[in-house]
Amino acid sequence: TSVDKIKANGFVTMSTNAEFEPFEYKDGEEIVGIDIDISNKIAEKLGVKLKINDVAFDSLTTELKTGKTNFVAAGMTADEDRKKNVDFSDTYFDASQSIITLKGSPIKTRADLTGKKVGVQQGTTGDTYCTDEKGTSDVKVASTERYNKGVDAIADLINGKIDAVVIDDFPAKKFVEKNPDKLVKLDDALTVEKYAIAVPKGDTEMLKAVNDVLSELKSSGELNKIIDKYKAA
Ligand code: GLN
Repeated sequence: TSVDKIKANGFVTMSTNAEFEPFEYKDGEEIVGIDIDISNKIAEKLGVKLKINDVAFDSLTTELKTGKTNFVAAGMTADEDRKKNVDFSDTYFDASQSIITLKGSPIKTRADLTGKKVGVQQGTTGDTYCTDEKGTSDVKVASTERYNKGVDAIADLINGKIDAVVIDDFPAKKFVEKNPDKLVKLDDALTVEKYAIAVPKGDTEMLKAVNDVLSELKSSGELNKIIDKYKAA
């Protein structure tokens, strides 16, 4: 079984996209963040080492499908489309998409995104919201500019190439904290989302291992401690 194999190998593989502070990001050479702390607890529980694959966000579900990884911890929203391809753990964080603009921008609410050029991270729920293929969103942006890294979208916003960035609220807060003179995060919450850890479809054993750890981290208060640590960082 998957867990027997992990124990025999002596390591468990987790895939992520380390461009999403505070959930996963690089501190020098080291990848750190909320998801890394949770993943280390999962490895500890299995009695093995943690191996991290750092890949593009939009290839994470493929990593699971092709057997390249045991789980994905990437601030990933448990959404219905993804559930066709992967199984999700219990959720561990409530999030929403939010808007970042330049200070003094005419964009003050989500309605003001209409007709604007908006930067998103490729393949994320922010991309889905802005692109609005189903025509259900309440904004009709002029164009969605897709980036592999949130930080590149922020750079284009500062350069004036795009009018706003739509990204998850906690990373948005971190970007604004780093550029307080130039950027603002609007109060509008565009979506209601919950993060979960993804495992290969049908891997009930891995799913149980992940859920056991999440439930322990929640009941002991450790999960809140981890989140608070990165709020302050
Ligand atoms: N929560 C968003 C999603 O799941 C973005 C995640 C990320 O960029 N790491 O699509």
